[in-house]
Amino acid sequence: MILNKQKTGALLDHLAGVRDVFVPATVDGVSKFFRYGEGIDPDFGMVNTLMPPKDLLFPQTQKMYHFDVDENGSYRIHEYDESREQVVFGIRPCDMRSIVCLDEVFLTKGFIDEFYANARDKLLTVCIGCAKAEESCFCASMGVDPQLAPNADIMLQDCGEVYLVVAQTEKGKAEVAGWSAFTEDEDARPLACEQTLKVNMEGVVDKLENMYDDPIWDNLSIKCLNCGTCTYVCPTCHCFDISQEMRRKDGVRFRCWDSCMFSEYTMMAGGHNPRPEKLERVRNRFMHKLNFFERRYGISLCVGCGRCVEKCPVALDITRLIDEIGAAHV
Ligand code: SF4
Ligand code: SF4
Repeated sequence: MILNKQKTGALLDHLAGVRDVFVPATVDGVSKFFRYGEGIDPDFGMVNTLMPPKDLLFPQTQKMYHFDVDENGSYRIHEYDESREQVVFGIRPCDMRSIVCLDEVFLTKGFIDEFYANARDKLLTVCIGCAKAEESCFCASMGVDPQLAPNADIMLQDCGEVYLVVAQTEKGKAEVAGWSAFTEDEDARPLACEQTLKVNMEGVVDKLENMYDDPIWDNLSIKCLNCGTCTYVCPTCHCFDISQEMRRKDGVRFRCWDSCMFSEYTMMAGGHNPRPEKLERVRNRFMHKLNFFERRYGISLCVGCGRCVEKCPVALDITRLIDEIGAAHV
């Protein structure tokens, strides 16, 4: 089944009639997934948005519950469920792989995060395969096929003028059954996607086992500003802080994205900080991406999207680090 690209707008109108649909677009110089509607011009030619789509499942700020105090001085808790039926249309294969990582964190090993689980249940994922790559894309080296995302509900493989439509889950099949006004029953051949940036991950996870005290971290951390940009633009970073605001007898408890690059992140109530210096924080970030997560969940926490490579203000580049680890004699 194929979808002519010229019919994508009509399909989006159809989808947006019943759900919130999020598409890649640029507004005021910032590219991210915006709710489709007036003033939003979807850009499916853009390879990667500056901000990843993780906020659809894990919002930057999320209310957890509201509370108040009754006339007897007792606290009452009122739960929120702000999750809604959503479609993300045009998510890329690297970002779909990041959802595999987030699913592991928020839904496995006996820990179910109900906010994430609710949003995940209500999200339909329509992935568009990549027919071109940015200079900073290296997902293929991280085990991602730029034209495939096995965990997407619906895969649209880019064939030039048309997309090849493949429904991959029961949810996706049910959805595509209603697309006959927009699709044709034909076949097409997906375009190849060439990536110039490549890394070799062979042996990197194992080598890092013996590199905790390696001088590599001194050299790397010296120029880091601890600005946190790399963590905010990363589709797999998932740390958060919980806080509350109270006015008179009403309050709200909420969580918001945090960053392991900030010194306060690991500050404990008694004043002890196990990662007081830049070196410890930089090492932790890269060890988590390239070793700790793989040991716990069996997959890398870097999907090769290239956002941190592009946006780090001091050009601290994870691909060069992977090369250095690969070349290290440990
Ligand atoms: S974006 Fe670069 S400078 Fe900022 S915290 Fe990350 S590695 Fe450090
Ligand atoms: S570490 Fe960098 S390249 Fe890897 S997934 Fe995160 S932002 Fe993308």
